[in-house]
Amino acid sequence: MPNSATPTHCPYCALQCGMNLTPTPDEGGGAGAGVEVTERADFPVNRGALCGKGRTAPALLSSRVRLTSPLVRNDGVLVPATWDEALDRIAGELSRTRTEHGPDACGVFGGGGLTNEKAYALGKFARVALGTSQIDYNGRFCMSSAAAAGIKAFGLDRGLPFPLEDIPKTGCVILVGSNLAETMPPALRYLTELKENGGTLIVIDPRRTRTAEQADLHLAPRPGTDLALALGLLHLVVAEGRTDEAYIQDRTNGWEEARAAAMAHWPEYVERITGVSVPQLREAVRLFCEPEAAMVLTARGPEQQSKGTDTVGAWINLCLATGRSGRPLSGYGCLTGQGNGQGGREHGQKADQLPGYRKLTDPAARRHVAEVWGVDPDSLPGPGRSAYELLDALGTDIRALLLMGSNPVVSAPRAAHIEERLTSLDFLAVADVVLSETAALADVVLPVTQWAEETGTTTNLEGRVLLRRRAITPPEGVRSDLDVLHELAARLGVEKGFPTDPEEVFDELRRASAGGPADYSGITYRRLAEESGVFWPCPALEAADDCEDASLDVLQDDPAREPTGDGGGDGAGDAAHPGTPRLFLDRFATEDGRARFVPVSHRPMAEEPDDAYPVLLTTGRVVAQYQSGAQTRRVDELNAAAPGPFVEMHPRLAERLGAGEGDAVAVVSRRGRAVAPARITTAIRPDTVFMPFHWPGEGRANTLTNPALDPTSRMPEFKACAVRVEAVK
Ligand code: SF4
Repeated sequence: MPNSATPTHCPYCALQCGMNLTPTPDEGGGAGAGVEVTERADFPVNRGALCGKGRTAPALLSSRVRLTSPLVRNDGVLVPATWDEALDRIAGELSRTRTEHGPDACGVFGGGGLTNEKAYALGKFARVALGTSQIDYNGRFCMSSAAAAGIKAFGLDRGLPFPLEDIPKTGCVILVGSNLAETMPPALRYLTELKENGGTLIVIDPRRTRTAEQADLHLAPRPGTDLALALGLLHLVVAEGRTDEAYIQDRTNGWEEARAAAMAHWPEYVERITGVSVPQLREAVRLFCEPEAAMVLTARGPEQQSKGTDTVGAWINLCLATGRSGRPLSGYGCLTGQGNGQGGREHGQKADQLPGYRKLTDPAARRHVAEVWGVDPDSLPGPGRSAYELLDALGTDIRALLLMGSNPVVSAPRAAHIEERLTSLDFLAVADVVLSETAALADVVLPVTQWAEETGTTTNLEGRVLLRRRAITPPEGVRSDLDVLHELAARLGVEKGFPTDPEEVFDELRRASAGGPADYSGITYRRLAEESGVFWPCPALEAADDCEDASLDVLQDDPAREPTGDGGGDGAGDAAHPGTPRLFLDRFATEDGRARFVPVSHRPMAEEPDDAYPVLLTTGRVVAQYQSGAQTRRVDELNAAAPGPFVEMHPRLAERLGAGEGDAVAVVSRRGRAVAPARITTAIRPDTVFMPFHWPGEGRANTLTNPALDPTSRMPEFKACAVRVEAVK
């Protein structure tokens, strides 16, 4: 392996910060080598800046808690086994389950941290090698409402339809339910630069977070009322004559219905629902409408609700009514969270989708992908259950589960119930790098390679496809997820079609995605090695010439006008499309090229507070931990910075409980009870408590959360449920 610095990307969040990895000199880059992170200033997204998670990411590569041998459960105990023993047992159990109960009794669960190649191979494995429809992934818990709303309005979902570099150049940003200071600190500079350039920042969050402290205007609505808030703003936009009528006429459909719905939401009514005053609403409208360009960016706050799709739809309506979307330096975008949250949803591990972000129910899409896979289109299963519904069916309809890159014991809503479902399975196999809380329940655990030990691509929150490079040799005893799928497929009788070389998988992914909404066919490893990423859609030009897919018209408008700014060199012979940093500038990806307003109305959260459960719980993250904490809780420096959960509450609530700072308090919902120390602050509403969700055990926040699902996206309502809070004597 190379002894010099290898440019690559962080294994954690969707910013996918660039970094250099250098094997430490005494190890010389051999097996099990140490590696250090150094600045990679040439990568434009983070320009060398990293948060503590990225800086300490190598710690897990050589950690003593890392798995380096397969484990199989014998007499109730996980014991080391050979790879053949472990793989034979998984294939045997999946095969037996399929024979006895049918293919849909086998489930597959993936993750938004898997590379594009792994997500693609996992979806293909489920549908071709197992023949099951029962596959979904933890990204369903992350961004699915924004994706559903984006597809409804624009005909296409790409988290940000513009690069991050546009943010400082706009006039106003409304940041809804995002705490960038904790989730992706290097991105905060885009907001700082926005303000330095004279732009304004509005933050909408029930808590005065470190991000909200940067805002010119902070609105703190009651959790679960973001939809009403957006409708109230749109009402005022109309009432104050601030709509862009020419844009609405030229570029949209459905305005009258959406307008009528918004006009039913009087500002005083919205004030009563949200707790945000009418003068604050008016000020937000003024700040948003006065500049020539403005953006709305949402994250998990408005999205993780049982009405998340409509809530995001309401924010998109605001952007459309004011002529923002599809205009330079303007529009709506979603800040995706997981490392490959964007690419992970594009290549076939979602219950309802095929690679290239194609619909599984579209006959033409099935024919195209089946041809690439060399199978009969009629042999491909239809859509399966969404993530929570899949987990909820474990032990009943689904008897055996293969899980990669996820830890639902900590991250799923109503987590104690999901833990019980996992233990009721006939068979559970987990591939992971450590013995996560979910892996500890498995019958077979497979130790797999980590980010710095393997090559693969991810797609960051901008839709920028990136190359993560192998920098060190993996330790003996671990194998890549691609290797695992190859071996399992062979044992299930599918000898071909599951290569272990990531570039070979990517080349097949390119063909499978060609002509689809998320077209990667013009992107090659060679280009990615030479450029600072390539924005999809990026069709191979000869494919674009042939393609009749209407969505490609959007792309074909762009190349001449919109170079990537990252070099855009061809680097790949015929694959010379420059990529598409900015979408929708001439037309949206709908059939007629016009954006669609979606009429939406306020409705309450699935579980409103009452006498028994009078307080609202909202959940989120802290800067030193990542998602379920399976990786970051095992890094000493991060653990020291954030050693455990807490319950953030207002002094008035603490006084009523008689609780002081650090005192143990119990938070109780209809689904269970969690205990953690109180953290008392005026930065949260008096009617709300906040818990971070990174920890298992008695402080597990997701013991409490409500799995009520959004009817469109099937997103659970993580962000708001009713609880009571008790002092623990
Ligand atoms: Fe990694 Fe995200 Fe931190 Fe960047 S912000 S270093 S990508 S965790």
